[in-house]
Amino acid sequence: MGGTPVIVLNQGASSNQGKEVRQGNIQAAIQIANMVKSSLGPRGMDKMLVDPVGDVVITNDGVTILDKIDVEHPSAKMLIEVAKTQDKECGDGTTTSVIIAGELLKSATDLVEANVHPTTISNGYKMAVEKALEKLEGLGMDVKPSDTKKLKDIAHTSMISKIVSSSREHMADIGMKAIRAIAEESDGGFKVNLDNIQVVKKTGTSIEDSELIEGVIINRGPVHPSMPKKIEKAKIALISCGMEIKKTDVDAAVQIRDPSQFSEFLKEEVKKSGANVLFVQKGIDEIAQHYMAKAGIYSIRRIKKSDMKKLAASTGATIVNQLDDLDRSALGQAKTVEARKVGDEDMTFITGCKNPKAVSILLRGGTNYVLDEVERSLVDALNVIAVTVEDGKMVPGGGATFMELSMELRTYASTVGGREQIAIDAYASALEIIPRVLAENAGLDPIDILIDMRKAHKDGKKRHGVNVFKGKVSDMIKENVIEPLRVTKQALSASTETAILILRIDDVIASRGGGPTGPMPEPGQYDIKGEGSEFDKEWA
Ligand code: ADP
Ligand code: MG
Repeated sequence: MGGTPVIVLNQGASSNQGKEVRQGNIQAAIQIANMVKSSLGPRGMDKMLVDPVGDVVITNDGVTILDKIDVEHPSAKMLIEVAKTQDKECGDGTTTSVIIAGELLKSATDLVEANVHPTTISNGYKMAVEKALEKLEGLGMDVKPSDTKKLKDIAHTSMISKIVSSSREHMADIGMKAIRAIAEESDGGFKVNLDNIQVVKKTGTSIEDSELIEGVIINRGPVHPSMPKKIEKAKIALISCGMEIKKTDVDAAVQIRDPSQFSEFLKEEVKKSGANVLFVQKGIDEIAQHYMAKAGIYSIRRIKKSDMKKLAASTGATIVNQLDDLDRSALGQAKTVEARKVGDEDMTFITGCKNPKAVSILLRGGTNYVLDEVERSLVDALNVIAVTVEDGKMVPGGGATFMELSMELRTYASTVGGREQIAIDAYASALEIIPRVLAENAGLDPIDILIDMRKAHKDGKKRHGVNVFKGKVSDMIKENVIEPLRVTKQALSASTETAILILRIDDVIASRGGGPTGPMPEPGQYDIKGEGSEFDKEWA
C-alpha cells in the first residue's frame, strides 16, 4: 500500500468497472469465508483435502485449508493472505480472521445496496477498528510466564478443535514446558524464538507417548554396532568433512592412502582434542568406524547441515572443516549423548546441553495423517503460549471478547454523527459472527445464544461467551477458555484492512499479454473513485 496505485494499461486491455466488479470481488471473498466457517471452534468439522496426485490432508486448521485450495479470483486470494498473515503474526486465529473479513464485506454489500458510498463504509470501518483495538487493550488481563495453569489453558483453547483433543492435556504440558525453557528475558519482558524448538515426528504408538527433550534429537544412531550406546559428560566434536580414505573427492579432507597411517592420524587428532562424541556431516568409512568403535567414541555420520548448526548452538561446539582444526576449544558439551530406538529407528538424544535454550519435541502418533495434524495443533499451541509469554495479556474466548467489543462499538456509533455511524453499527454487528458461528457449529440455536449473550454483556458480564459443551452462555474465564490478546488484535486489524481494500476496488483491469504497449493512463486514472488516495495514506 501507500501512494496512489498507478497501473500501466496494455492496448486493448479489458476493464470492468463499477458495482458489478465490487459485487464479484465481495462474493468471491465471502465464498472463501463460507468455506472455513464450519471448521471454527471446538465443535468445528475437519476438512479432507485431496490434491491431484491423491495425497490427502485432514485438517481443521484455517490456514492449512486455505493454503491447499486452488483459487483463481484475486480477491479470494486476498482473503487467503489474511489467514497467512494471521498465521505468521500469531500462529492462531486464522479461521476467525477470515470469517470476520467475509462478514465485514457481507455487511458492506447491504450498505452499498442502501446507497451508502463505499468510501463512507471504509471510513466507518476504519473508525470502528480503531475504537475496537483501543477497547480491546482495556479488556486484556495480565498473565505471567510463571502462571502454569493459565498458559496450559491457553494452549488447551487453541488445540481444542483439533483431532488431538483427547491428548490435549499432555500436549499443552509439553508446549508450556518447551516455551518456558526457551523464553529469554529481555528489557524487563520476555522474547521467545520458536526456531529453538525442534519438532521430530515418528509414527507408531500414540500421541500420549510424545515427549519433551531438553536438548537435540538426531534421527540416526551410532554408525558402528560396537560403539557405546551412551556417553556421559560428552565432549562433542562437529566435523563437516568426511572421514574417508578411499574416496579422494574434493570433500574428503583426509586424503591418506595407507589405512594404518590414517588410523594413526585419526587417533592423534581425536585423542588430542579429547572428544568422546563425533558428529560428522559426511561419511565415515569402515576403517574409521572401526577405529572409533575401538576407542569407545560415539560417532554418527551423514548428519544434516541444519542439525549440525543446531548441535553447534546448543552444545557450544565449533564446526570444523578439517580434522587438523580439531582441538579442545572446538568441542561442545552435553551431560548425556544416548542412542535410543524410537519405533524401528535409531535416534540419538543429546541432553543437558551447555546452552539449554534449545529443546526438542518428539511427536508420536498412529499414522502420518494424525501426526501431521498433531504437529499443526502443537505449533498453534506453541505460538499462543509464546505470544502470551511475550505480551503478558490474555482475553476470554468463546466469542466473549467479540461480543463485548460489538457492544462497545454500538455505544460508540451513537456518539458519531453522519453516515459513518451506520457503518460502525454494521461493523459492530459483523463481530457477532464469531459467537454466532461457534453456536451454529455446536448445533445450538444461534439466535437464542446471541440474545442471551447480548443480555449478559449488557448486564456487565464481559466474559460471557458460548459454552459449546453445555449449550448455554457462561463465563469463559471460569471455563478456562482463554486466548492471547494478540490473536484477537491481529484478527481485527488484518480482516478490516483487507475488507476495506476489497471494498474500495471498483475497477479490475486485465491486460492481454504480449500486445503492443498502449498510451500511459493519467496518474490516478484507474484509482478508486472518491477519496481513495487519502485512504491509502491513512492505511500506509
Ligand atoms: P481459529 O483458526 O480462528 O483459531 P479455531 O477452530 O481454532 O479457529 O477456533 C477458535 C475459536 O474457538 C475461538 O473463538 C475460541 O475462543 C473458540 N473456543 C475454543 N475453545 C472453546 C470452548 N471450550 N468453548 C467455546 N469456544 C471455544
Ligand atoms: Mg485456533
